[in-house]
Amino acid sequence: MSRSAHPAGPRHADVLPEGHYSAPAADLNVLDEKVWSRTVTRDADGALTVGGIAVARLAEEFGTPAYFLDESDFRARCRAWADAFGPDADVFYAGKAFLSRAVVRWLKEEGLNLDVCSGGELTTALDAGMPADRIAFHGNNKTVAEIERAVEAGVGRIVLDSFQEIVRVAHIAQRHGVRQRVQIRVTVGVEAHTHEFIATAHEDQKFGIALADGQAAEAVRRALSLDGLELIGVHSHIGSQIFDMAGFEVSARRVVQLLAEIRDEHGVELPEIDLGGGLGIAYTSDDDPREPHEIAKALSDIVTRECEAAKLRTPRISVEPGRAIVGPTAFTLYEVGTIKPLEGLRTYVSVDGGMSDNIRTALYDAEYSVALVSRTSDAEPMLVRVVGKHCESGDIVVKDAFLPADLAPGDLIAVPATGAYCRSMASNYNHALRPPVVAVRDGEARVIVRRETEEDLLRLDVG
Ligand SMILES: *Cc1c(COP(=O)(O)O)cnc(C)c1O
Repeated sequence: MSRSAHPAGPRHADVLPEGHYSAPAADLNVLDEKVWSRTVTRDADGALTVGGIAVARLAEEFGTPAYFLDESDFRARCRAWADAFGPDADVFYAGKAFLSRAVVRWLKEEGLNLDVCSGGELTTALDAGMPADRIAFHGNNKTVAEIERAVEAGVGRIVLDSFQEIVRVAHIAQRHGVRQRVQIRVTVGVEAHTHEFIATAHEDQKFGIALADGQAAEAVRRALSLDGLELIGVHSHIGSQIFDMAGFEVSARRVVQLLAEIRDEHGVELPEIDLGGGLGIAYTSDDDPREPHEIAKALSDIVTRECEAAKLRTPRISVEPGRAIVGPTAFTLYEVGTIKPLEGLRTYVSVDGGMSDNIRTALYDAEYSVALVSRTSDAEPMLVRVVGKHCESGDIVVKDAFLPADLAPGDLIAVPATGAYCRSMASNYNHALRPPVVAVRDGEARVIVRRETEEDLLRLDVG
C-alpha cells in the first residue's frame, strides 16, 4: 500500500488536502487490468470497449447511468472457482451480491450452487430454473412463510441461525413430511475485513450461534434430537472483502474442533463444513486479491491439517463467494455533469447517478477507482471527488481519485468493480430510477435488468 497525502503532479495546489489516496498513475489512460473486467480494453480511438463494444455506443443505446456486466468474465470466474475447489467441494454463489434470472442461468450452466437469503431471492432462483437442491437458504430472521416455501421447494439446505429457528424449521419440515437438510451457523469469534482480522469478542452481532459458552454445541444437540432435521454440517462466515487467510484459518480450526466435540459426544461425524464467503477483490490498484486456486488450496490445507490432528474424516467443504465472482465483472458508466473546482482542495465532478446506484462509499467508506472512458487525454491529473446528484453531501461515489484536468461535461467516466452490492443495494432516493444491468458478450449487449421508469414509480404509488 503506497498511499501519500502529497502525490506528485497536483494541479490545484502545491499541498493536496488530507485524503486516503495514492499518487496518480503514471498514465491515466492506461486501464489497470486488476480493477477492470477481462474483456475491457481501449480501442484505436481511445474509447473503452467491453465485450468488443465501445462505451459511446453503449451509452447511446442504453443511456447512463448503467451497469455493464462482462458475461464471459462472469462465466470464467464461475469456472475458475468450480475448478479450483474441484468435485469434492461445493461453490455457492452468494446471490445477495447481485441476482437476476440471467445470472441464475449462468450459474446453473457453469455448475455453481446458489445462496439466497430472502423469499425474493428464492423466487428469482426457482423461476430461472435453478434446481432446488442446489440452493442454500440463509438469514437471521427467515419468516415462517419463507421457510415454508423453501421446504416445499426442497432446497438443498437451510442454514439455521438461532435456537428458535431450529424448532421452527423442524416443525415445518415435519408438517411437510420431510427431513430438511440443515447446517448450523456458528459465530467463531473471528471478524475479518480487508487486511485485518480480530480473533476475539465478535460474538456481539445478530448472526449465528456462538461457539463460546457451548451455545453452538447445545444447538447441535437440539438439532440432532429433532426428527424434521438432518444436520449435515456447520457453517461459518467471518466477514467481507478479506485478503488475509489468517481469519479463515482460525475459523476453520474452531469449526473442526466443534466437529470433533460432536463426534465425541454424539458419535456422529458431520459430513460438511461451510466456510462462507467474503473474499476480497481489487477496487483500486492497491488491492491484491488472491486467485481462487490459491484460496482453495489454503482452505483445503487448513481443514485437512486440522482434521488429521483431530482424527476426523475430512468433511466436504463449501464456500460462498459473492463479491469475488460478480464484483470485478461490471462497471458503472456515468455521464459527467457539473464540474466544480475548489481551489486548494479538489475538483467535484458530478455524475448522473450517485448513492442511489452505489451506496457502498457512503455506507462503508468503500474505495473505488474511476477513469475517463469516452476518450483518452494527455492533460495533467487533477484530484477529484466523484459525487452524485442526490440531496445529501455524503453522496459520494469515488472519494479521492485522479482524472485528466481537461474533463468536461458530457464526457463518459466509468467506475470499475461495481458488480457486487451496487445494483442489489440500489435505491429510489430522490425518486431516482434504478439503472439497468446490461450484459455484454462477444459484440452483443442485452438488458438483463431494465432501467426503472417513472411509470414504475407511479405504479407503486397508489395515490
Ligand atoms: C454476504 C455473505 C456471503 C458473500 O459475501 P461476499 O463478501 O460477497 O463474498 C457469503 N455467505 C454469507 C452467509 C453471507 O452472508
